[in-house]
Amino acid sequence: MKPALKRGWRDLNTVQFGMTPAHALTLGPMDTATGSFLDLLNGTRGLELLREEGRRMELPDGHVDTLVRRLASAGLLDDAKGGGPAGDTLRGKKEALDRLRPDLASLSLTTSEPGEAISRLTARRSLRVQVRGAGRVGALVASLLSAAGVGEVDVRDIGRVDPWDVTPGGLPAEAIGDRRDEAARRTARHCAPDRPPRRTRHTRLGEESTGHSLVIIAPRDDVAVHAPSPSATEPLITSGTPHLYAGVVEATGMVGPLVLPGETPCAGCLHEGRTDRDPAWPRLVAQWRSGTARTRDVRPCDLTLATTVAGLTAAHALTFLDGRLPSSAGARWEVSLPALTWHARPVWAHPACPCGATEKGEGEHPSDEEESHETMAEHRPSKELRRKADAKRLAGTWRAHV
Ligand SMILES: [Zn+2]
Repeated sequence: MKPALKRGWRDLNTVQFGMTPAHALTLGPMDTATGSFLDLLNGTRGLELLREEGRRMELPDGHVDTLVRRLASAGLLDDAKGGGPAGDTLRGKKEALDRLRPDLASLSLTTSEPGEAISRLTARRSLRVQVRGAGRVGALVASLLSAAGVGEVDVRDIGRVDPWDVTPGGLPAEAIGDRRDEAARRTARHCAPDRPPRRTRHTRLGEESTGHSLVIIAPRDDVAVHAPSPSATEPLITSGTPHLYAGVVEATGMVGPLVLPGETPCAGCLHEGRTDRDPAWPRLVAQWRSGTARTRDVRPCDLTLATTVAGLTAAHALTFLDGRLPSSAGARWEVSLPALTWHARPVWAHPACPCGATEKGEGEHPSDEEESHETMAEHRPSKELRRKADAKRLAGTWRAHV
């Protein structure tokens, strides 16, 4: 039984596994003898031994097999010896596995097959991720991914560590004055639960050009966060490299969109969509960008907001790296101080953008799009309120494109 789910009796015949709506389910009818038999499913006994225990507890013939089948099909069973040779290797490294135990338990809730959780965890070790930008957000994202078991986390940036780059979990105070990229790479390596595997030169599907499973774009420059330049990520689009945007701009944290080139909307789509809605957008962006070139001001970036954004960015990245599609595909999560209400702004695929995401059918049927985005974001709070707000905006009460 997956120990991650709390177990409780709803009544004399029904067991509830789990506490929260996202992952809880009930199983019944179940008699008390079978219920106490569940305690034996703790990974220490094989099926043969379990059948023996069942006979001893006077459970009917075949009952144990049926029960195990039912639990497995409900996604409630794990395999204590699963994960193949990579699983065995990780189990052999007790210290590394101990550090990752809560992460493994969490993966057991989002996977259904026995042994799948440890397979996902070990698969992270063979992944290469690049983080572009090593400020308060980027350096922490790199550390989090490394700590979560991603085998290779590369960081790109220029310049040297400024005092205001320092964050808990990100760049340390000792690194002030050091090269920013090197310091962030070093910090990320220190966070790894285990020595990363030696890099091998092999080409994986979709990694032909950069060799990265994912590139995270977390600029220190807040104009680049707010108005990401489509030309900066053109090589990623061309090479089909998935990338995820994140950052803080003027006390607003942003996570997304996650771009799967040719499939989900990209920075070009975002730019075209904003220009459609506001003809002044390109003019403003040009002014903001030229302003950035002239000044080297310290930009607003609240420590806790940056940390929050980094955490959510790493979580979206891991969901994708673990083989699922997070809600940042086709949307940008935003949160502003001081109210800190999260909401997702949809990013539509745009027909004028050369990335080809519209050809996937996403941008061609607004009604379908609306539906898919609503479904994707079903856990968002106050969906109804947002819908009303959107309708209001469409009626002509634009609050500028911020
Ligand atoms: Zn595009």
